Amino acid sequence: MKNLTLSVAFLLCSFVVFAQEEKKEPAYTDDDALFIREIYDQALTKGNAYDWLDYMTNNIGGRLAGSPQAAAAVEYTRQMMDTMGMEVTLQPCIVPHWVRGDKEQARVVNSKSMGTVELSILALGNSVGTDDFGLTAPVIEVKSLQEVMDLGIDGIKGKIVFYNRPMDATQIKTFHAYGGAVDQRVHGAAVAANYGAVGAIVRSMTLRTDDIPHTGSTIYNRLNKGVEPIPAVAISTMDADLLSKIIEKDKEVDLYFRTNCQMLKPEESYNVIGEIKGSEFPDEIILVGGHLDSWDVGTGAHDDGAGCVHAMDVYNVLKQLNYKPKRTIRVVMFMNEENGLAGALEYTKVSNQKKEYHLAAIESDRGGFSPRGFTMEAENEIFSVKSKKVIEWLPLLRPYGLELSKGGSGADISRLKSQKGLMLGLAPDSQRYFDYHHTPIDVWDAVNKRELQLGVAAMASMVYLIDKYGL
Ligand SMILES: [Zn+2]
Repeated sequence: MKNLTLSVAFLLCSFVVFAQEEKKEPAYTDDDALFIREIYDQALTKGNAYDWLDYMTNNIGGRLAGSPQAAAAVEYTRQMMDTMGMEVTLQPCIVPHWVRGDKEQARVVNSKSMGTVELSILALGNSVGTDDFGLTAPVIEVKSLQEVMDLGIDGIKGKIVFYNRPMDATQIKTFHAYGGAVDQRVHGAAVAANYGAVGAIVRSMTLRTDDIPHTGSTIYNRLNKGVEPIPAVAISTMDADLLSKIIEKDKEVDLYFRTNCQMLKPEESYNVIGEIKGSEFPDEIILVGGHLDSWDVGTGAHDDGAGCVHAMDVYNVLKQLNYKPKRTIRVVMFMNEENGLAGALEYTKVSNQKKEYHLAAIESDRGGFSPRGFTMEAENEIFSVKSKKVIEWLPLLRPYGLELSKGGSGADISRLKSQKGLMLGLAPDSQRYFDYHHTPIDVWDAVNKRELQLGVAAMASMVYLIDKYGL
């Protein structure tokens, strides 16, 4: 009987909720569908992202924080945003200045099975270099940081530790595979040094088997007190497989590598911030951004030139369509995402000091491939509230192949969620992103114009909806 009463009560409740939903205002109008169509038409035929990317990659080049190229990219994007009529400010931040120096060398030394074999490597960003003579030591292969800790000083001391756990090919979202392997690159050298290793060599973070090493930052913050940092490099996946085979056959193998990188003194650099004040709610900021710095070996086309030109073109396309934003639109080129996040930390600090409110922020930092949707994050207690409206817009976005899911937004913006807004990350198709990530082949040719411009349209449509309806 009690159960029956409960059931009836439940049914009544459901009916009330249902009836309320029936009366509710629709989340959008037919005009919105038409305007989003115009955004796509404009971005695909008159967008500027691809041309800007041409200049940033082919005329400026790789833009590692502290480099002259990074400074040139600050000036270039400042000018482009100024030309669009935005109020542009340069926000100073102090960035690390790491330089690679001459090309790295590595070889297996005089192995029993194969003799001397040259290996394809790149120094990891922020790594210390070897001395002028390079480093020769026995190599030991491991699959994880834990394995190094288990082997302890007896197993590790005096050796070069070779981290060889591949990215998990069964992951459908390749960023998950990256997340599952990248601890080896980020912390591998420091953990190995704690047990007396003299060098670290890490399998490149890619799902492809090829001869291209992938750089990326290593961090020494897990070094025990008094332990000196050791040189760290990435090895191509083909050479990682080869090295593993030689170790399996020969048991004892010596490795030589020489790197010429060093950390110079910190430099002043800038976030580039372009803004258009909202006409009705100027205190509600909608940020679109990417990071201006890139690795030095390619020209940072997908990572993250694409994200920078996406963000600038979002405003460009809306302006061409004579759209007048109700809320403040801010286009931000963050500095030093790759090896320090100095720009993001400064931006968040200043924004919090000014008691600003970012209603929403959208970062594009997953390449210039065909957009598949957005991932969203917010503080736990408000996520469902903040994402609800965006989910109601899905019928407007699905015709363009866009979906929504819960997930990280972007390294530069995610701290802004403490201001209680919604943080979104553009989610392009991720299958080929790690073919290029942090490599010499991340260049303009690797980006498809149409796919890049579709990303602009996806972000501009989201900005338009958030600006019109709020969250
Ligand atoms: Zn990036």
